[in-house]
Amino acid sequence: MNDLLDKLCQNRRLDRAEWRTLLEARHSLDRQDLFARGLEERRRWYGDQIYVRGLIECSNICKNNCLYCGIRRDNRSVTRYRLDRDTILACCGKGYGWGFRTFVLQGGEDPGLTPDWVAETVAAIKGRFPDCAVTLSLGEFDRDVYQLWFDAGADRYLLRHETADPVHYGRLHPPELTLAHRLDCLRNLKDIGYQVGAGFMVGSPGQSADTLAEDFCFLQDFQPHMVGLGPFIPQKDTPFAGEPAGTLEDTLILLSLVRLTLPKVLLPATTALGTIHPQGRELGIQAGANVVMPNLSPPAARDKYTLYDNKLCTGDEAAEHLAGLKQRLAAIGCTVAVHRGDFPNS
Ligand code: SAH
Repeated sequence: MNDLLDKLCQNRRLDRAEWRTLLEARHSLDRQDLFARGLEERRRWYGDQIYVRGLIECSNICKNNCLYCGIRRDNRSVTRYRLDRDTILACCGKGYGWGFRTFVLQGGEDPGLTPDWVAETVAAIKGRFPDCAVTLSLGEFDRDVYQLWFDAGADRYLLRHETADPVHYGRLHPPELTLAHRLDCLRNLKDIGYQVGAGFMVGSPGQSADTLAEDFCFLQDFQPHMVGLGPFIPQKDTPFAGEPAGTLEDTLILLSLVRLTLPKVLLPATTALGTIHPQGRELGIQAGANVVMPNLSPPAARDKYTLYDNKLCTGDEAAEHLAGLKQRLAAIGCTVAVHRGDFPNS
């Protein structure tokens, strides 16, 4: 197995059969060696500086019905909300004071967040905080909508591909959502000039060495600037309520492998990872992650953006507790960077 890992480190790519072999045997890899390689590669590009992004969950209204997601359309137990522009700008203002220089607007696919409203909101943020980057994570739209938002000043877009295996995609999503359309969106975003984030959940129902091999082949071909990767965590009101969560170990292994495949990638240690283990994010950073995304949403909205059960929202993952996060990072030799934190050389 180590020969495949050496090959990955030298070439930054494996063929599909090699990926399958490596992923099938990933739990018998020497983890300390793997994590050390991931950490070394992260340090080569970023040193011990961790990039922070203020996450603003702007709406939990969603027209989609993804089987894993707690804010899916059919979940009647969610109290729905949509933030207004002044509230979003106030979140940014607070975050700016705390040192955030990237704001991420994430939400369900809410028809009320019209293309023009989003464009005007992006322009308002960029007008008031010109030294900040704006990341959008609002789902699938036509190319002209992505272009409108880019022209309004949006810098980055997060759209996890969720799984690069079309059959697996069909198990996670209703029939009207397709992998082909998701990938079209990702290609359009990159073509327009966004820094683009793909990614997937670890341990989603039906995931296997085969589907993961597809994911890694996709990542090495598409070369996203960011990869969002966190454990699947069941949410009680979804069809996957009874499914097991992804594990800490598996997430750490896959984070390291992503870092070794895409050395410069912006790689968050996610809130989901922090949710399944109290030290999850620190361990993620020590396996190769270099980004954290504290929650900058208004406290009253946080317990309504319930993608999964027990989501952390009031501890050190809350943006107002940045001091606590800094302490945790200092304990593992890391500091928080106060700048936009762009993809290197973009
Ligand atoms: N509507 C946007 C944002 C989706 S929420 C979009 O379509 O991109 C952001 C991410 O949360 C999703 O891409 C998914 O990978 C993750 N997520 C959703 N439900 C989850 C769950 N139960 N456990 C872990 N992650 C989940």
